[in-house]
Amino acid sequence: MVKFFLYLLRWQLSTPILWLVVRNLGSGILSTILANLIGGTIFFWIDKYIFTSKAIEMWHFKEKGICDNCGKEAPLWRLVLAPGYDKRNAEAKYLCFDCSKKKTDELRRRGIPIRGRSK
Ligand SMILES: [Zn+2]
Repeated sequence: MVKFFLYLLRWQLSTPILWLVVRNLGSGILSTILANLIGGTIFFWIDKYIFTSKAIEMWHFKEKGICDNCGKEAPLWRLVLAPGYDKRNAEAKYLCFDCSKKKTDELRRRGIPIRGRSK
């Protein structure tokens, strides 16, 4: 939470400069501060997401279970987290090796950089 306020403060640093610019266009200092608060609030979470999701890949693994795709009993994998892919709050779907490979190939085609399965 401290980081959040530091971040908002960082956004406020541009306020005096911005105000000098927009003053002539009829915008007040309050609306400029408000604009930066809104900007900071939005970008804090976007930046946080970008910074924390970079190169992070999380897999869940089951020694044995039923594949949610083909119904085969096998060791199962589930990709939970990758850059631009977040299923932490989604319904847990576990896939066998073959189905998991098809899924990751499909995600790679969509531009999600998946390194590979890990236990
Ligand atoms: Zn399967």
